[in-house]
Amino acid sequence: MKVLVIGGGAREHALCRSLSLDPDVTALHCAPGNAGIAEVAELHGVNALDGAAVAELAVGLEADLVVVGPEAPLVAGVADAVRDRGIPVFGPSAQAAQLEGSKAFAKDVMATAAVPTARSYVCTTPEEIDEALDAFGAPYVVKDDGLAAGKGVVVTEDVEAARAHALACDRVVIEEFLDGPEVSLFAVTDGETVVPLQPAQDFKRAYDGDLGPNTGGMGAYSPLPWADPKLVDEVMATVLQPTVDELRRRGTPFSGLLYAGLAITSRGVRVIEFNARFGDPETQVVLARLKTPLAGLLRAAATGTLAALPPLRWSDGAAVTVVIASHNYPDTPRTGDPIDGLADVVAQDGPKAYVLHAGTKRDDSGAVLSAGGRVLSVTATGGDLTTARERAYRAVGRISLDGSQHRTDIAAKVADDAADAQRS
Ligand code: AMP
Repeated sequence: MKVLVIGGGAREHALCRSLSLDPDVTALHCAPGNAGIAEVAELHGVNALDGAAVAELAVGLEADLVVVGPEAPLVAGVADAVRDRGIPVFGPSAQAAQLEGSKAFAKDVMATAAVPTARSYVCTTPEEIDEALDAFGAPYVVKDDGLAAGKGVVVTEDVEAARAHALACDRVVIEEFLDGPEVSLFAVTDGETVVPLQPAQDFKRAYDGDLGPNTGGMGAYSPLPWADPKLVDEVMATVLQPTVDELRRRGTPFSGLLYAGLAITSRGVRVIEFNARFGDPETQVVLARLKTPLAGLLRAAATGTLAALPPLRWSDGAAVTVVIASHNYPDTPRTGDPIDGLADVVAQDGPKAYVLHAGTKRDDSGAVLSAGGRVLSVTATGGDLTTARERAYRAVGRISLDGSQHRTDIAAKVADDAADAQRS
């Protein structure tokens, strides 16, 4: 199978890594990729947002499968452009991707399908904004209606800050605050059959102790020892299958990766948001535990044959990812700093710990430089979370990037709690 992956972050590096380990994959290509992906795939300098150019590349490569990683190309119709040329593509149509592209659309689908989510109002005028803020009270949850890479959401006790963010958006969703821990659950679907993956948890705030601004994600772990073992079945029945069924009913079937961001509240599971693609950094830990070859799974979704696929196989162990970000991330990340120590991780920790690249590039001399806000996703596996976590941080310690930052508490509490539970 010849596979083309679209995107160039750590999520795409994780996808490419898993695809490169799949014996059915005979050729692996990526556009635009990054310095790490270049080690497992052939890179192509094609603009990921240009559907015609991506489709042309896929035809030229005689690709048997195109996997679209990020949301922006999906919303721009890149999957449609490839599908129109008769090539199987893993990723929803632009219309179905509105599930992520418009929070108001997602709310409408959930209301019709009776999917549990926060009560909300869509507001366009200052009067509507004030009424909605009053109706819910603090803490206020204010979301820009468009795509904002997880950064268009403000959760605050301060009504003035909430109002200011709302007024800065063209269209805004104001909603009820959901308490309780968050879970990311991914499902692979062909528009009809839904195959859930294992749940993960990510860390959205920039600094230790869940302090600081929201980011694209600073780390993740899987599995979730604290979660109800019936959680996945429940979310399948109340969220994933009804959503996929509703989109099919509307004539805009969703195929690809349906990502449910969930809050486990005191009143039950609620959807915080949907995404139309693999989440970053949760993909890094979920794929680290998936034993089923990835290409066959994604191609089954792309060709409408998921129902015939045998059950997925998973490692019983754990995986932890720690993100290394640039100086000044998420505000104005500095780029162009040299990254050292990558070879040490391969030599001393591989293959149980490895580095997935996000914003990186090579200069003319072959040195790897930072080229974005989130630079590296250091991922490790182990028999349990404590082992995976220690391995991940040992590998982080070998890497040097001037001015970089990372959280030191990824999966710390859950690993301690799990170890305590085992002792007692
Ligand atoms: P979203 O882009 O909708 O995923 O929101 C980003 C983050 O904001 C979520 O992961 C939550 O941490 C937080 N958030 C979003 N909606 C709510 C809500 N209704 N109640 C509490 N926190 C929320």
